[in-house]
Amino acid sequence: MRQSKFFMPTSKETPADAVAKSHQLMLRGGYIRQVTAGVYAYLPLAFRVLRKAERVIEDEMGKIGLAEMDMPHLLPASLWEESGRLAKYGAEMFRLKDRHGRPSLLGPTHEETFTAVIAKNLKSYKQMPIALYQIQTKFRDENRPRFGLLRGREFVMLDGYSFAANRKQLDQQFDDQLAAYKRIFARCGVTVRPVIADSGTMGGKNSTEFQAPAEIGEDTIATNATGSYSANLEMAVSIDTFKPVTTAPAALKKVATPKQETISELAKFLAVPATSIVKSVLYIVDEKRPVLVLIRGDKAVNEVKLTHLLDCDSLREASEAELADLVGVHKGGVGPVNATWAAEIVADNTVKGLTNVVVGANETDYQWLNANLDRDFKVDRFADLRVANAGEPDPIDHLPLKFTTSIEVGHIFKLGTYYTEHMGANFLDQNGKTQPVIMGSYGIGVSRMLSAVVEQHLTKFGVAWPKEIAPFSVHLVQMKMKDAVQTELAEKLYQELSTKYDVLYDDRNERAGVKFADSDLVGAPVRVTIGKQAADGVVEVKRPTDDQATSMSVADMLAFVGQELR
Ligand code: ATP
Ligand code: MG
Repeated sequence: MRQSKFFMPTSKETPADAVAKSHQLMLRGGYIRQVTAGVYAYLPLAFRVLRKAERVIEDEMGKIGLAEMDMPHLLPASLWEESGRLAKYGAEMFRLKDRHGRPSLLGPTHEETFTAVIAKNLKSYKQMPIALYQIQTKFRDENRPRFGLLRGREFVMLDGYSFAANRKQLDQQFDDQLAAYKRIFARCGVTVRPVIADSGTMGGKNSTEFQAPAEIGEDTIATNATGSYSANLEMAVSIDTFKPVTTAPAALKKVATPKQETISELAKFLAVPATSIVKSVLYIVDEKRPVLVLIRGDKAVNEVKLTHLLDCDSLREASEAELADLVGVHKGGVGPVNATWAAEIVADNTVKGLTNVVVGANETDYQWLNANLDRDFKVDRFADLRVANAGEPDPIDHLPLKFTTSIEVGHIFKLGTYYTEHMGANFLDQNGKTQPVIMGSYGIGVSRMLSAVVEQHLTKFGVAWPKEIAPFSVHLVQMKMKDAVQTELAEKLYQELSTKYDVLYDDRNERAGVKFADSDLVGAPVRVTIGKQAADGVVEVKRPTDDQATSMSVADMLAFVGQELR
């Protein structure tokens, strides 16, 4: 490709509205342009990367025996009614009506669509195991689209779905996908950690996220030093390491705590540590059930763990209006003593064994001192309900947990029979008995992965693309277009290198500074500069991560390029 004919609108300025470094680079380098919030045009550079990533995916999916297909983006809402997800999916779904008033939507994910096709076309155990995938645009009306391709409202996803006749087949399919995903990320140059992820109500080992450590990441992963334990923070198990406090129970006493609303204010006012305060948080579960959650004052409630314990579809903290209505107090005054308005009281394990604690008195500006479990208040269920802290022991080897921010680039999931049961996807087993098909689903955020790669491969002035997905493999830069000797050598090398590699030939009448600045943004694995020494058959070679270019003969350059791009 001749750069004079290649559309790549670069700029020197860092765009003011772009926070993520990858977003800045893709704007400056002319990779992408925003069309509207969270919706981007992929200009030729980005599109080349995207296509190459897709080819890696196609290759690796082929290796585990999967065929690619394509589902429509425009879907009838009725499909989602069948699965029971239409209401649950909420505001993230782009909903529309066709001219006949039929409710439709733009696919945010395709479990329903695949299950519906399987329900009609798969009859027997003999047709299983089977798995299919597609790479296509997804639509999600994200609350906060941001960071360029990291969180879009329209984005490219690889989504695969597996259909098995028994658990063993599903496990094999899942393991195949896990291995393929590892190879995909390695080939695309993304460093990832597979971590335990939220799998709804299906429990522990059924869901793995691929997390790419990066400063800008919106997720936090908790890992120990050996890597024997890695989990998304929302799933990180906190083990019970608390020694029971054995102080003798004292008499319950009500004290006035005017305007002390937060735990830290309260601790200061009462001159007690936060660990002697039990925080009471009222949740509204499935929009109807008030559940009181107790946790030690220095800890925070993990809502994913709470959702699992309560086995509910939704939960949220009660509003001030609901608190006033149900309990008659502000947030800070809520407590478990005589909490008859709570349908259930659940507590984090930190609350076990505490004596003489401070709790809200369910009266504005009052707290109880010396409240004791079982004597003054009861707990229906104890569980691990807290957000893990950095440094606490992991649940496997009891090594300190380290936190890292990261980008979720992929997620694989043993779904079980939720969709197939709701949508009637059954098959006849070996004994002629009707059974629901067992499903798995597998996804990679392909466009998001591009941003993750850039985040992990930034250089001082640009990016160093991993070779398999680099927009160009070799960037041939001619210093002076008016120099006939340089032109002759450049044209010859352009022809020769193009027989084996993707070459971008900078044949523009631009200053050296402009050419090199743009070259840093293209980030090809090898840059070959043709300058003053062209007459001697000498060129300069530089990789994006090298501080300086190296002069070498054309023959040495060809050998070097061959080695680098092998
Ligand atoms: P997140 O927690 O980041 O919102 P998710 O759990 O909603 O992700 P999935 O439904 O598992 O994501 O989708 C599969 C993959 O698609 C994710 O692992 C991620 O890489 C990608 N993805 C999800 N939402 C977006 C988005 N808004 N923009 C770009 N990629 C996305
Ligand atoms: Mg999401």
